[in-house]
Amino acid sequence: MPEYEAVIGLETHIQLNTKSKIFCACSTDSWRAPPNTHICPICTGLPGVLPSLNRRVVEKALIMAAAMNVGEIAPESYLARKNYFYPDLPKGYQISQYDEPLAGNGSFEFPMPDGNLRRISIIKLHIEEDAGKTVYKNSKRLIDFNRCGVPLVEMVTGPDFRSAEEVGQFLIRLRQLLRWLEISDADMERGQLRCDANVSIRERGQQRLNTKTEIKNVNSIANVRDAVQSEIQRQVREVEAGRKIESWTLGWDDDRGALSKMRSKETEADYRYFREPDLLPIQTSSEDWAATVSQLPELPLARRSRFSADYGIPDYDAGVLTEERSLSEFFEAAVAAHGGDPKRVSNWVMNDVLRLIREQDTSAGELGLRPDELAEIIRLVERGTISNSVGKELLTQVQGSDRTPSQIVEEDGLAQVTDFGELSAAAAQILEANPDQVAAYRGGKSGLIGWFVGQMMQESGGQADPKSARKILEQLLEG
Ligand SMILES: [Zn+2]
Repeated sequence: MPEYEAVIGLETHIQLNTKSKIFCACSTDSWRAPPNTHICPICTGLPGVLPSLNRRVVEKALIMAAAMNVGEIAPESYLARKNYFYPDLPKGYQISQYDEPLAGNGSFEFPMPDGNLRRISIIKLHIEEDAGKTVYKNSKRLIDFNRCGVPLVEMVTGPDFRSAEEVGQFLIRLRQLLRWLEISDADMERGQLRCDANVSIRERGQQRLNTKTEIKNVNSIANVRDAVQSEIQRQVREVEAGRKIESWTLGWDDDRGALSKMRSKETEADYRYFREPDLLPIQTSSEDWAATVSQLPELPLARRSRFSADYGIPDYDAGVLTEERSLSEFFEAAVAAHGGDPKRVSNWVMNDVLRLIREQDTSAGELGLRPDELAEIIRLVERGTISNSVGKELLTQVQGSDRTPSQIVEEDGLAQVTDFGELSAAAAQILEANPDQVAAYRGGKSGLIGWFVGQMMQESGGQADPKSARKILEQLLEG
């Protein structure tokens, strides 16, 4: 029985987050907008109109190209008409790019869950306009043109993926990168990141590519992974049964969790591409390109390595802290303000700051807690001025307050009680109130000491210094 390997290439469509569409001034913000309310004569292709290219689209696409390690950019690239008839394409053609795209020959490196890096080649990257949306309702076909002219980057990878798992990780890291670069919100459910997968199989060790099928329009990363996996298994079953793979286009049925055949695939020649006569070529000077590359922020993978190396934190921490750009910036600012052990800051950020972010459904950049305030709270705990639990409460209290953490501690009397007399009196009271536990302890259940300390902490509202409390309780219990 031969062993098979999968050969998968992706075609991704990324919605760039410009305010207006690619060739007109209509707003791109049409999620949940009533149908056909963000349209004009240009994006609906009425006769006599002329498109004009939104320069921000090119700028954002160039940032994308730079992040994909594209070595060089076409000094002149052309828009082209892709001709096909479909009801949600009002012009009868889509303005895209064909054999003279903006950029090509790039690569994207990303970590797999086991820590190994994978590098996928990027064959080409170009800009284009989106088409409209067809909705089927009561056996009628309804058309919404709001998405017509929404700017997209299409990015085509090499046939470099060998498993559905790799495809899933690629999409997770691509989404992270797009948000990091602030060029797309990359929300798959809103169609801002779409992915078609070309899937074929071959006997391991063979070089030749076999007939492939294309999976289209899957709306979540988990579904892409499932769809690719089930298509690999289907192809293996077909080949083992002696049948040929046919060049189908497949869709994913979300409810059934299964693939279904959409149509036999059209070939590229059917599109009768030609250069768009109404638009000038896109010119990118070498100075513009050099400026784009030099202004690229440090990318997630590089920042992750640097965090491990410079701060001596575990790779796991570095991965969590660089999941999102504003969180990584929050961490660095807090480390700088704290000036002590970065691992301690990492613990607070990963546990407590992330919890606040989740509770408030916000990002580190929007959080009411500032990095320097976190650093001050950590120092107060380290010096023993306040207990750990008071520190955690302070994280919430300091948000939106015009007082510093130290002022809150001072003015609200939150400092830890280390005073021997005060703690002894409280401990004596607890012993008096719990004669059964005292007897048990004295009878040999020394593990009860934790319970007594817990009582002290509760009575003092978390302000008792647990170390001193423990010492005093032990003396009283054993004395
Ligand atoms: Zn328009």
